[in-house]
Order: sequence, then structure tokens, then C-alpha cells
Amino acid sequence: MRPNIIFILCDDHASRAISAYGAGINHTPHIDRLAAEGMRHDATYVTNSICTPSRAAILTGTHNHVNCVTTLDTHIDNRLPNVAKHLRAGGYATGIFGKWHLGEGVAHEPTGFDEWAVVPGQGDYWDPAFIFPEGRRRIPGYATDIITEMSVDFIERRAGGEKPFFMMCHHKAPHRNWQYHPRYRDIHAPGTIPLPATFDDDYSNRAKAAEVAKMRVRSDMVYEDLGLVQPEGGADIAGPLMVDDWHMRKVPELAPGETISVLCAETGERFSFDDPQAFAEFKYQRYMSRYLRTVQAIDDGVGRILETLDDRGLTENTIVIYTSDQGFFLGEHGWFDKRFMYEESYQMPFLVRYPAAIPAGATSKDIACNVDFAPTFLDYAGLPVPSYMQGRSMRGVLEGTTPGDWDQLAYHRYWMHNDAIHEAWAHYGVRDQRWKLIYWYNDDLGQLGARPNGAAPEWELFDCEADPYELTNLASDPAHAGVFAEMLAKLDAKMAEIGDVAEHDSAAVLAALGGAG
Ligand code: CA
Repeated sequence: MRPNIIFILCDDHASRAISAYGAGINHTPHIDRLAAEGMRHDATYVTNSICTPSRAAILTGTHNHVNCVTTLDTHIDNRLPNVAKHLRAGGYATGIFGKWHLGEGVAHEPTGFDEWAVVPGQGDYWDPAFIFPEGRRRIPGYATDIITEMSVDFIERRAGGEKPFFMMCHHKAPHRNWQYHPRYRDIHAPGTIPLPATFDDDYSNRAKAAEVAKMRVRSDMVYEDLGLVQPEGGADIAGPLMVDDWHMRKVPELAPGETISVLCAETGERFSFDDPQAFAEFKYQRYMSRYLRTVQAIDDGVGRILETLDDRGLTENTIVIYTSDQGFFLGEHGWFDKRFMYEESYQMPFLVRYPAAIPAGATSKDIACNVDFAPTFLDYAGLPVPSYMQGRSMRGVLEGTTPGDWDQLAYHRYWMHNDAIHEAWAHYGVRDQRWKLIYWYNDDLGQLGARPNGAAPEWELFDCEADPYELTNLASDPAHAGVFAEMLAKLDAKMAEIGDVAEHDSAAVLAALGGAG
């Protein structure tokens, strides 16, 4: 009997905010159940650390230069084949509920699904609008709970049917601006969350891109991110706008000698500060408090789905996967966002349970990436993996029989687009089990039309074992010239394999390296 496949994808859920990964900052008993009864995978990486491209890679099993969904602004062409279409044609009942974020309208809406209900764009936390095949309507309630109930309803209706089912449950949470359900108002009180060791990172010994990115907790969050009332008035009173055409203003960073007073939107409580560091840490605590509270409702939802499988006798023959569309910075390096190939936003949580084949309590550090997901679904469904897909089935990795020729290398490419909000520069690179090589080519618009931002391209090389927080760039260290050359060769081979176009000239890079060494 072919297995059912349930794929639960959250938005911006860092593995550090899942207790099974051991960071100790929160407790997610239901997600942890997948690790206890299945596998916790520790080396799943995203091909492009941002929502829309990651979702396209998952659906199509291809890298973003192939599926053409390179940025938030490039929506999927839904005439392309995707894994849901293959599963549906192969005898599966298919459904998707929640966040789609691959575009709207007849050219971009979900295809390959028997049933679908998706939120427009990012979706709302409360009383969210949903788009159904027959039209759009708002549903009262909390987005996470609504998406959970739609998913449970699908399972209950499909249980015992003639066809196995494939369901994608795509939560909107815990994406910015972290509106939590009041049932979690009393957990993770601000002030109780440990500060990451790299919160005060000064970005020395790194590419310039790290320093210029506008993703800092201390200076780049807006009032609603933190549940604070935005003051009325101009920039001199209320701080700079987030971007020119939005009404949202950033909560200003405090300079020495200044004071500030902010108002909690929920309670009306007023907080005053005269110490810049205390104010930065206050923001971190409010950010994390809100983030972790939204995560808790997702954990409830996972519990509901697992309980439904138990009640229906489907646990043994259903593959349940929990992951996120990328990682996320939870204050590491002083940041709160994603986009970068640095480890915290690059690594995706990946937990999978399939009692019929995957040993309970297993872990793995074999490198995988999100283009491998679609081939994995098809493999378990007993269907051929189409030759256009660029990933490889993770089945051996998950069952403890990793093939000897498994490629322990992940590729990442982030294309810059009109992103005045975050100022994250374009880069690509590879990571193997120890080393990470990143090339910051720094286009503003990348493949949409080069517009160099004036910054010189830079390389970064990190020893992920000795320097897990990636604080020391070894790219110009003569002692690591050999490693640099090896990783450059791996990058070139990977780009040739997947057909991506390089912005660097390896011969020139190696000649310069020889001159320096
Ligand atoms: Ca995301």
C-alpha cells in the first residue's frame, strides 16, 4: 500500500525554535514527536533563503534559475510540471492549504491539486482572506488554527478512500509581524529569553554585505513587529520610514545620551530607556517573545494532525514531514531576518516520521536540500522521478542507507531584487560537511539586469566546524588557499551540473590566489 504524504511547511521557522534541535529556548512537544518517532535531519539546506523561490524549488524539484522563480517578484508559471501534478497523475488525491506565495490569478494559482485554499500574498494572522478555486472570502479566526482545521478536514475526508493522499499544510506563521493567539499571552515573557552569543556582532572579518544589511534587531524593526504603538509625526519625532512608499516607521536605535519612551499596543504599558544596549535587548526580547508564541500555535496544529492520524489508524502508513521555507535569524549576528547563506538562515529544520521505513529516534548529517523533496515524495509514492528534476530522493538518507555516491554538497543562490527594505546583496556559494564558500557578486538586480551597487565583489570561506558562527572569513588566509581552491572547484562543478551561470572567473581568481600565496 502506497503511503500518504503530509508535508507541513511553516514560514520562517528556525530550527533553533524547535526543542528537538536542542537550543533550549522553547518547548514544541508535538513537532518533537516527529523526531522521537522518526528522524531529525540536521543538514537540510535551502537553495535560496527566501519564501517564494524556496516554495518553487520544493514544488518543482529544480533550482531557481531553472524554474525562473528567483525572487519575491518572479511568480511561478503554473503551466510548468510540479510534484503535485505527478502525484495526482500517479493516483494520489492532492490538496494544499495555507500560504502559497507563488503569485495569484489564472497563470500563477495552484495547479496539480484536487483541493486548494490559499491565502493571498503573505496572508493575515486574524480573520484571513483565502482564495479557493471558486473565489475569495474571509474566514473568521486565527490563521494557524484555520489552516490546521482545513488540513485535518482533508485528512478525515480522504481517510479510507481508494487513493492515498498528498497534502501540503503551509502555515503563515511564524512570519513577521508575529501576531500570536491570546491563549499564549502568558508564555515566553519578555526578559526570559537568552541572548545569542553573537547578538552584538560588529561584522568585522566578513564581507561588506553583512554590515550593510538592514536586518538588525537594534535598528531595523518597525513598531508593529514589536507590538508597539507607532507615534504620529515626521521622521524627527517617529523615526525613518521602513521604505519610501510604506507608512511603517522603524523603532529608532537609541544614541548615547538620548532617551525614548514606547507604548505597548496590547496593554498600554509604557517603557522608557536611556541606555542604547538596554533598548536593543528590549527589542530582542519582545521580538522573540512574539515569535515563540506564534510557534506554539503551530505546534498545537501539528499535534492535531498527528492525533487525527492516530484516531484514523493512519499513523503507520503516512509520511509526515515538518520543515520551513528557510531558516531565520533569531538575534544571531544581531539580525531578525533570512536571505543569507549564513548558517542560521540557510539551514532548514527537517523532521520526518514514517514508521514503516524510518527508524525512530534517528538523526542524520548527510547534506540535503529542498530540491530533493519532490524526488523524495515521488520515490516513496513508487513513481518515476522526471529527468528535469535536479534533486535526488532522500530515501536512503532517511532510512539509514545513504548511497555511497551521495553528493555531500549544497548550493545556494540569492538574487537581489528591489529590496530597499533589507539591502541583502546578491551571492551564491556551496557548503560541504565542513567548509562554506560564498561569492558576493553584489548586483542590485542580478539576472533581471545587472546594476552593480558599486561594492567590489568579495569571497568568504568559513570553517563550519571550528567557527560555527562564521565570524572569521578565511578567503584571503594563505594557510587556507588550498581549501579555497578545492571549494572553488566544487562550486564550479556544481554550477556546471545544474546549469547556472557564474559571475566569477575561476582562472583569474586562482591566479590572484597564487600571487597572494
Ligand atoms: Ca519564509
